[in-house]
Amino acid sequence: MITLAADFGGRRIKLGLVRDGRVTARQVLAADSDQPLAARLDAVAASLHMLCADQGLAPRECDGLAFAYPSLIDTRQCRILDHFGKFGDASDLDLRAWAREKLGLTLVIDNDARAALIGEWQFGAGRGCDNLAVITLGTGLGTSAVIEGRLLRGGHGQAGILGGHLTIRYGGRPCVCGNIGCAEAEASTWMLDKLARERNDFPHSPLSHESVLDYAAIFRWAAEGDACARALRDHSLHIWSVTAVNLIHAYDPEKLVLCGGIMASAPVILPAIQDYVNRHAHTLWGRVEVLPSALGDDAALLAGEWLLREQTASNISCEET
Ligand SMILES: [Zn+2]
Repeated sequence: MITLAADFGGRRIKLGLVRDGRVTARQVLAADSDQPLAARLDAVAASLHMLCADQGLAPRECDGLAFAYPSLIDTRQCRILDHFGKFGDASDLDLRAWAREKLGLTLVIDNDARAALIGEWQFGAGRGCDNLAVITLGTGLGTSAVIEGRLLRGGHGQAGILGGHLTIRYGGRPCVCGNIGCAEAEASTWMLDKLARERNDFPHSPLSHESVLDYAAIFRWAAEGDACARALRDHSLHIWSVTAVNLIHAYDPEKLVLCGGIMASAPVILPAIQDYVNRHAHTLWGRVEVLPSALGDDAALLAGEWLLREQTASNISCEET
């Protein structure tokens, strides 16, 4: 099976050509998510044409196109339901018509954390494990789960993916989702600048000289011994660990896979979360294994094959009726 895939991140759009569970060609575009999605889709189509040409293929020779997108998704209608401040026109677009017109392909689309879970479940760190949860530590906090071999979607497509919007701190910060005290509002890349500037020691920290304040800088300066960076690191590790226990209590996984760009600091993050889970998760059957992604940026790209098979099997058609 040959699929094309696009994974829309906060800063990058990752594109891939996938053959039988392996990404054989890839390309990365700047997300420019303050622009309309319609404009970025022209660049996506051009890059996908180029990926195919490099492999001696026409797009129509592929079996389909898969989008992994950081939002709530109507998978049946191939619609993005909310834009959360990124690509403001996303929910107005008829993406299946676009895919058919520009590439001649059937489109499947799902939430990006759910796509990463499918990739890890089928080909990566969760292979062979039918009780699995994923946290993606990126611009926001994505989550998803498989329970007894069934991908968790729910009646409105929301089940499993709102783990970053579980209430972590009663009376905490307002979140973009409308809730208060969400994990994402307490420790995520999009909140990091505000979190840092609220601290009295921030003006005296080397973090205040960083042109981009991200978790790479936090972990780097924390390792150097900066007190502000250490406090932000430890606070974030605590929030992510509590989120991990919440997911374990909600979904009963045997493995929890951590994905996303922040996992560049895996040697610090993994043992911290595993230790907290060992001490606080109520799992009488044994210990949940906390694992790093085995696939990195490829995880969400690899979901297309599974999503296309699911669509065929359940007769969910993204073709216009
Ligand atoms: Zn929220």
